[in-house]
Amino acid sequence: MLAQGKRKKAVDVAIIGGGIVGTSVARELSKYQLNLILLEKEAEVGWGTTKANSGIVHAGFHEVPGTLKHKYCFAGNKMFPRLCEELDVSFRQNGILVAARNEEEMSIIQSYYENGKSQGINVQVLSRDEALALEPNLTPALTGALLASDGGSVMPFELAAALMENAVENGAQLMLESPVINAAVCDGFKYIETPTHVIRAAFVINAAGVYSDEIARLFGDDYFTIQPRKGEEYLFDLSYKNIVSRTIFPIPTKVSKGILVIPTSEGNLMIGPTSDDCGSKEDLDTSADGFKRILEGARSLVPCLDPTKIIAQFAGVRATSDRGDFIVEFSPNVPGLLHLAGMESPGLTAAPAIAAQVPGMLEEAGCELIPQVNFNPYRKDVIRFRQLPRKKQALLVEKKPAYGKVICRCETITEGEIVDAIRRGARTLDGIKFRVRAGAGRCQGGFCEPLIADILSRELGIPVTQVTKRGKGSELVHYKSKELLTKGGTSRETV
Ligand SMILES: Cc1cc2nc3c(=O)[nH]c(=O)nc-3n(C[C@H](O)[C@H](O)[C@H](O)COP(=O)(O)OP(=O)(O)OC[C@H]3O[C@@H](n4cnc5c(N)ncnc54)[C@H](O)[C@@H]3O)c2cc1C
Repeated sequence: MLAQGKRKKAVDVAIIGGGIVGTSVARELSKYQLNLILLEKEAEVGWGTTKANSGIVHAGFHEVPGTLKHKYCFAGNKMFPRLCEELDVSFRQNGILVAARNEEEMSIIQSYYENGKSQGINVQVLSRDEALALEPNLTPALTGALLASDGGSVMPFELAAALMENAVENGAQLMLESPVINAAVCDGFKYIETPTHVIRAAFVINAAGVYSDEIARLFGDDYFTIQPRKGEEYLFDLSYKNIVSRTIFPIPTKVSKGILVIPTSEGNLMIGPTSDDCGSKEDLDTSADGFKRILEGARSLVPCLDPTKIIAQFAGVRATSDRGDFIVEFSPNVPGLLHLAGMESPGLTAAPAIAAQVPGMLEEAGCELIPQVNFNPYRKDVIRFRQLPRKKQALLVEKKPAYGKVICRCETITEGEIVDAIRRGARTLDGIKFRVRAGAGRCQGGFCEPLIADILSRELGIPVTQVTKRGKGSELVHYKSKELLTKGGTSRETV
């Protein structure tokens, strides 16, 4: 039974979950004249697994032909350059190098080469000397390598935020802090309940990541399960540069692609991830043991890595389905309920290709799709002050002085860029950090966070006590001590 008395909405399509999959689908469907809504439980999109991964745009040679992972990874990889250009998102096609350290590993390299070649993936087998010429910091124990030059690196959160921004510009609705808590099916419609609304939808797209099995169960659909598998990652300071140019892979293990050395699209070096089954979908803790394994694994590829340059760590949870593959299909039990689930790696790479498939699937299921002639694929250009030539910086500051005020000193992020991010949809300190990197540098926000909180407060027209790090319950300022003095109070209750 759904609750009575909540606000009502009726839509053609409701997407549950604003990760890379849900936001990609939202943008794709905003190309059509649809009444479309995306419901996200967090304060911003992209805060599930999408914000906590390696950011690699895989080439596809790792995946087994015939699987959905292979199909969508290969197709997704091809879509990234154009997508990131349209949305002005940082993306580098810097290539992937798989290092072999003995003859047995060389035979696996050979099989990747053949797999890649047969699928039309750009792959090349390198001798030890050729690999070391490209990446001089690789281990001397190297025997050879596979080079896949179509592999790349992207900022996953930035991409999800950009996809959603573009979808909203093209007419999609976004409801944040709106967890789906209940669902029902009646007269061919699906009803979704959030704490404030009951939404009636002809079609529902379940893109709820690690929770997609629980969303399915709300509809009485329980034919798949999702097991969380955690991956820890460790990020180096931006100044620790030029260690490797390409993402370096070992030969994979049975459960993961192994521990990698990753130059991110923004230039930081990163090492990870682990791959450990975990009991909870919310287990985002990093650990001494995880760090030890990652450092050992990464140093077996690049021995010179200096752990004192690490500035941050995080963990993400993979949504591993009991099928061992992605689930991209209509529910066999609930007509009009489309599951996009089990998106473990390479789900980030695959997301654009999965999304591109959705309109056709909906149409086949009876959804009328009329193209929106005014669809605009482009996002307004993003100003990245630190990347501009001096002359352009000077001109910009003259026109708009807020770009002359550096708020985040570690990453050289200006007030103008922070205000831009808020106008594009950022609502929290983490939303600013992930969009424009303010607070992502060596001091991790120690200096700039209070300044950013003030800007958020001013721009959103809310008291600073309501500014949060990552949504309700993560307020940083509980009361202003000076107010206590002027009001003569001594406790929080006086504010
Ligand atoms: C450590 C690690 C490294 C990885 N590296 C790579 C890589 O390099 N390349 C690659 O291609 N893939 C990689 N992946 C996989 C990739 O991150 C995922 O495939 C992808 O992020 C999944 O996106 P998603 O949208 O399905 O899930 P999510 O990003 O988790 O999105 C689901 C969304 O649903 C929301 N939600 C959940 N329940 C509800 C509810 N009840 N109501 C409303 N909203 C709800 C969540 O808040 C979340 O925002 C990695 C994964 C991990 C963990």
